[in-house]
Amino acid sequence: MTTRTVLSALALFVFVGTPSIAQDAPKSRVLVIGVDGVRADALKAAKTPAIDALIENGIFAETTKILGDRYQDNDTVSGPGWSSFLTGVWADKHGVHDNSFENRNYKDYPHFFVRLKEKFPDAMTASFVDWKPIDQYIVSGADIRKVYSAEGADGYAEQDEVIANDACELLQHQNPHAVVVYFGAIDETGHRYGFHPSVTPYVAAIEKVDSQIRRLIATLKSREQFTDENWLVIISTDHGGRGLGHGSGHRVPEINTTFLVVSGESAQKGSLDKATYVVDVAPTALSHLGVKIDPQWKLDGSPVGLIHHHQQ
Ligand SMILES: [Zn+2]
Repeated sequence: MTTRTVLSALALFVFVGTPSIAQDAPKSRVLVIGVDGVRADALKAAKTPAIDALIENGIFAETTKILGDRYQDNDTVSGPGWSSFLTGVWADKHGVHDNSFENRNYKDYPHFFVRLKEKFPDAMTASFVDWKPIDQYIVSGADIRKVYSAEGADGYAEQDEVIANDACELLQHQNPHAVVVYFGAIDETGHRYGFHPSVTPYVAAIEKVDSQIRRLIATLKSREQFTDENWLVIISTDHGGRGLGHGSGHRVPEINTTFLVVSGESAQKGSLDKATYVVDVAPTALSHLGVKIDPQWKLDGSPVGLIHHHQQ
């Protein structure tokens, strides 16, 4: 080997080895909490001090649509709901019209973690879910990916508690930039006892998840760099419910109209007077993380509830 090749090999090594952490990780962070099957009126009826505190420090919308104005030919169930929530597009694009996940197209319309990673390869992402199809089909771009096996209202209640524990563990000891935590017990409880603010077990299930959210937020706030990390917390759902179900809810406001919370120092404060949609969750998270929304992604949602958009 000549001196020259040694030098260029060394130069190459130095170039490749130069850390660029500051550029390749976002400056802000998001915690997205997905709670399956929550009616906005039941949320208001429940005692939810943790969610109330988040609303105090952000925006609350209670007319958030789970179907688009432009497209709504999918069923009002979890498959299309969580697909829209996590990708930011309606079912004509992500292709999921029911819980079969046939014709899914997450290649062209991926989970928002994928867009985050394209812009910030060093962003750390984590996903916790106990409704398996979300993990099986929708999740990609996750550095930490946990899926929990649950069945029935009691099974989901048990696994939601494990999810809360594990997500707290992550928030306490690691350095994630985007975390999605999914809780399934409220929907299962609705299917068993009824989706309505007067149904005690349904309301109690919401209160249980509120206590899990309280723990998540307390853990967030205990992070050494919490103030500098500029966390945004987003909470929403995939549908409401009526009676013991929520399918075919295209003309049923209790099913197709739900809520959205966007909370944190970067969030606007008060009730939001513009129309909101479940497809707004992903673009709101991305915008807060400093990822510019590319028109070529053809997102249907847009950032909501942020004081200013981070356009980079
Ligand atoms: Zn659902």
